Amino acid sequence: MASENGSGSSADAATPTDVGGIGATSPAGSGTAGPQRQPPSAPGHGRVSARTRSALIGALILVLGVGASVVLAAVWRSNLQQANRTAFRSTAADVSSTLNAKLETNIGLTRTMRAVATMEPTAGESRFLEWYRQLQRGAPASPLNVVAALIQPVPASRLAAFERQAEADPAFRALLGGKYQLVPSGRRAVYCLTRALVGTSSATAAYPASLDYCAPVLPVIGRSPYAALVHTVTDAGSFIVTRVRGIGSVSVVAIGAAVYRRGVPLATVAERRRAVTGFIATSFDGDALIQPQLVGHPSLTVALYHQNVGGPLTLISSAGANPAGRSPGSADRIALGAGWLVEVSGTTDRPVSADTQGAVVLGFGLLVSGLIFLLYRVLTRSRQRAWGLVGEKTDELEYIALHDVLTGLPNRALVLDRAEQILARARRLGSPATALFMDIDGFKQINDRLGHQGGDEVLREVGARLKAVLRDSDTVGRLGGDEFVMIVDCVGLDATGPEMIAERVLDVLRQPIKLVSSPASRLLVTASIGIATGQPASAEDLLHDADVAMYQAKSVGRNGYILFESEMQSVARDRMQLATDLADALDAGQLFVVYQPVLDLETELVVGVEALLRWQHPTRGLIPPDIFIPIAEDNTSIIPIGRWVLNQACVEGAALHAKGHPLNVSVNVSARQFERREFVGEVRAALENSGLDATSLTLEITETVLMRKPDMAARMLAELRELGVLIAVDDFGTGYSSLGYLRRFPIDSIKIDRSFIADLPLSNAAGALAHTLIQLGKALGIRTLAEGVEQRTQLRQLQREGCDQAQGFLFARPLTPAALETFLDQDGGPAGVAQARTQPAGKSMKPLATGTVERDYDAGPAPRDAHAAKPS
Ligand code: C2E
Ligand code: CA
Ligand code: CA
Repeated sequence: MASENGSGSSADAATPTDVGGIGATSPAGSGTAGPQRQPPSAPGHGRVSARTRSALIGALILVLGVGASVVLAAVWRSNLQQANRTAFRSTAADVSSTLNAKLETNIGLTRTMRAVATMEPTAGESRFLEWYRQLQRGAPASPLNVVAALIQPVPASRLAAFERQAEADPAFRALLGGKYQLVPSGRRAVYCLTRALVGTSSATAAYPASLDYCAPVLPVIGRSPYAALVHTVTDAGSFIVTRVRGIGSVSVVAIGAAVYRRGVPLATVAERRRAVTGFIATSFDGDALIQPQLVGHPSLTVALYHQNVGGPLTLISSAGANPAGRSPGSADRIALGAGWLVEVSGTTDRPVSADTQGAVVLGFGLLVSGLIFLLYRVLTRSRQRAWGLVGEKTDELEYIALHDVLTGLPNRALVLDRAEQILARARRLGSPATALFMDIDGFKQINDRLGHQGGDEVLREVGARLKAVLRDSDTVGRLGGDEFVMIVDCVGLDATGPEMIAERVLDVLRQPIKLVSSPASRLLVTASIGIATGQPASAEDLLHDADVAMYQAKSVGRNGYILFESEMQSVARDRMQLATDLADALDAGQLFVVYQPVLDLETELVVGVEALLRWQHPTRGLIPPDIFIPIAEDNTSIIPIGRWVLNQACVEGAALHAKGHPLNVSVNVSARQFERREFVGEVRAALENSGLDATSLTLEITETVLMRKPDMAARMLAELRELGVLIAVDDFGTGYSSLGYLRRFPIDSIKIDRSFIADLPLSNAAGALAHTLIQLGKALGIRTLAEGVEQRTQLRQLQREGCDQAQGFLFARPLTPAALETFLDQDGGPAGVAQARTQPAGKSMKPLATGTVERDYDAGPAPRDAHAAKPS
């Protein structure tokens, strides 16, 4: 619990010590008024490392973000590429399978036509047209722009017969559009002439029905490729695919096949040459074949290749984005069989490429990372700011936790902390530590008079003066209320040092205090100081000892100081123990009330009783009220106890009335009881509960209680008077010398304190005072009662003076209700009292010796039958 170097030469230069204490730092020096903040070192360190840490985390976020973006972008791109490739492959497969189907149709057409030509060697145009129409009916997948022709080699010798036959066939004649006219005309050894022609555009200008394909030069076409082709087809024995010149820009793909005689061997070229009877040629527009495949694929190029047996791979047709060659992008070559091959190239990609998309993803990732990084920075910055603020506030709170807000002086916690340090140092150096405990005298009244603001001002001023008196290394603290404490380091002080400090303190307090809140008034303040010096076990003990001494200083008369002695400790401890025990005494039934008779001095009859409280302590025996009533008054237990006495007295008083003793019952009322609003109600309740007549109840109140708050007392008394109860001023003559208040308050009787009676009749002064008081009562019409009458001479004098009533051991000691009853019935009646009166002086105790003395609770230690006699 150390927070500051106890021997520090400057109180304001708070230096943290290694003695772990309240908080890590000491917010202020000894009694320094006003908050003093220091940069908290530990949080500062934390802040630096937190900043570094947050920067590192920020960097990490950035690196991770960038990394993640790159990876994401790459994955995205590769996935997209993969998808693109797959899409391309499937497109390519689609394209090729469609092309294959079309080609199959054309090849099939060629094959069937060759079969027909083989089976029916004489079949002409009409037959083929019929076949073709049937074919088309059965096969809806018609070939593309196909022209299929049966070409027959015709030697010159048979040309005329061929022409005749052609003209004879009406269908062929329709193709000719007239007479058969060889194109080009002229004599050649062998002609290659069309015997049948089917297809979309049968005969055209470039290919008239009477065209000799084997003529070296053809009209429109020029040099004929067909003569060579005829030989190739004949020799190959298989289908030959070739590109031939079409009409205009149309590229024509031709499939050629030789027709051989049936049933002859065709194994060799020579056999095939011998067996050949004609050629089937089907042709189609290659571009038109491919074009439909490109719909929806603007960046594809499709190329169709064919490789004849033994020949090179030849481009047959191509179309699309880059018909001159392969389109950039992917390329798939798919073999269709029978020498056909499709090459699909280019791309089927979405409009935004994988690269672009990857770049976009990367950009987006980087943007998000950047944003997260920024967000993190902003958040950590504001968190750091928040922590900074917390640090500041912590200092402030720490200051508040350790200081008294009103005066800025260290509070109890800090005072104890300092005291602990000074004690530690004292033990080390073998010198004593000193605590001065100071309490302002009558501060409650000051507060009542000046109000809280004024009271606060006084406390502040006192605090400032105390600080001025002490050295910087000493500590002045406020423990709350009007209690101040000073912890003094005795190093360098001689033995009387602490007392001199106390003197100085009392001296500075003697200077009148001028208040800002009421500038006209000058306040004089005194205080009581308790000093404890030594090396007790703990700071708590040191403070406690000083407190005990202060209490002692208060009780011996204020405005002074007292040094703690160890006996005080036991007295104080005793007192504390009693206070603890007293808290339970009422519930435990240890309290009971005894009654002391009051006599009328004229008639010498018992007219009343005073209720007096007793405590039968379980271990200490009977404890007199002079001891325990002040304790009860200190800790407010007097309130329930007093209420109980009031009720008890009323109940027992009413019982006496019922038994034929209509006595007045007096009950002592302490300040704490009387100064509560509820008191009047409690009195009324006690009367109602017991059924006691209000005029049979007297409340005894001391003059000091009445004078503490005269206005309030006057109001209370008026209310009580209204109930009908009587008021007596107790211990009259010991308090205020001014008697003016007797006029002011509605008072029925005064009880002359027994200290005056005790000196009667020997002391003239006492006699004079008794005389004056009795006369005063007569003048004011207030009844007088003499307390503590023990001797017959005293009684005589009081009777002579005209005192109204008396109580005292001469007549009776306080009695239990049972003893009182016996007393009233036997001894206490007029006869008994008369006996006491008529007894010669010195034997006055005699009548009391019978029947009452055994039950006398005031005669020495607790009587053996106390419990038995005590009402339960
Ligand atoms: P008090 O009100 O002045 O009560 C009278 C005291 O004088 C009683 O002392 C009584 O026993 C004593 N006394 C009576 N006659 C004589 C005598 O001839 N010679 C001597 N030397 N003393 C006599 P007690 O009962 O010890 O009470 C002491 C004080 O305790 C009372 O003084 C009263 O102030 C207080 N007290 C007692 N009972 C109560 C109570 O119920 N409530 C309150 N608030 N105070 C009580
Ligand atoms: Ca009394
Ligand atoms: Ca009294």
